[in-house]
Amino acid sequence: MKSTLITGANGGIGAALALAFLKSDVAAQVFLGCRSSRARAESIVAEFPERSRIVTLEVTEAASWEAAVAEIVQRTGRLDVLINNAGHHRDSLLATMPLEDWHSVIATSLTGTFLGCRAVVKAMIGQRSGRIINIASLSALLAPAGQANYAAAKAGVVALTQSLAKEVARAGITVNAICPGYIATEAPGADTAELAGRVPARRLGTPAEVAAAAVFLASDAAAYINGSVLKIDGGIL
Ligand code: NDP
Repeated sequence: MKSTLITGANGGIGAALALAFLKSDVAAQVFLGCRSSRARAESIVAEFPERSRIVTLEVTEAASWEAAVAEIVQRTGRLDVLINNAGHHRDSLLATMPLEDWHSVIATSLTGTFLGCRAVVKAMIGQRSGRIINIASLSALLAPAGQANYAAAKAGVVALTQSLAKEVARAGITVNAICPGYIATEAPGADTAELAGRVPARRLGTPAEVAAAAVFLASDAAAYINGSVLKIDGGIL
């Protein structure tokens, strides 16, 4: 039974990823990785009770990854797709950035992605197949002012993606990164029009548009796409 694990599945893009995979024919079983908040994930599981399940997952902790992956392999016998989506940002100018904000953002996006890849890759090599999709950010490529921690973490995710892709390609595993631009994960706010004005497409992207790309990258049709960095940004870069 094909299975997919999505981290940060209670968030805006994470929930869209879960729904898109559940509505596709790519994954029979979807595991929604959540740490604290899980209301949105629970409503998805209520909609697809036979094919989805919440797993507790704090991405910065190796032991949490081991437990989550062991649970999935025990239930389904395999793990076919991992989407490292959990992430957060704590923006400020570098000169005044608290060390805690540096560590926190690096730990979640970069170390969390490393731990996730490491936790699944042996099982995928044993299967001789697998798909890893890392949600980076356009900030990895643009490195905006005020995001030294986030841009460095996400650029690290891109480099990790390309390095691991070379290591595991011969085992039938692909590792790709998605770099979303401005994605509307909340109801429109005061700055929505201003943000949209920075985008050539003159609108924010939707979580479903990010999720659709992930479904494609996880599909058999994308078997030869490896180590790629796909930006989804309405034409900003
Ligand atoms: P949200 O804040 O809506 O969701 C983030 C999710 O990650 C939450 O479910 C959160 O859980 C979870 N999470 C954060 N830290 C951890 C952790 N240490 N362990 C486990 N789970 C954790 O963000 P988005 O949906 O907008 O973003 C998803 C991804 O997309 C992120 O990696 C983000 O950097 C990236 N991205 C988003 C863009 C956007 O415009 N929205 C643009 C570019 C990239 P909890 O609720 O418990 O904190």
